[in-house]
Amino acid sequence: MDILEGKVFSAKVISAEVGISVKEVFDHLEHIQKSVNRGNYHLVITPAECKKCGFVFRKRERLKKPGKCPVCRGESIQEPLFCLRRTGTLHYDDVQQG
Ligand SMILES: [Zn+2]
Repeated sequence: MDILEGKVFSAKVISAEVGISVKEVFDHLEHIQKSVNRGNYHLVITPAECKKCGFVFRKRERLKKPGKCPVCRGESIQEPLFCLRRTGTLHYDDVQQG
């Protein structure tokens, strides 16, 4: 997952870039989300948003794009975006080399 580090991406983009299915991307992301406390990465999620009325799906626990907006019933939904950040490291290697 190193190639994802520091980038903002949607599941579709990663699916195409890594060559795995969108479903597999979500499986990976859910795994990262669950293992945050012991992993090296932290998953930052930009929630899905309704393009029509601007409703933000903040409380949605699942990572997948919702089908419909509960407010306006619109089906034009901006996909959730993900960003993978490394946690707890201060890049000591860089300091030592510099
Ligand atoms: Zn809406």
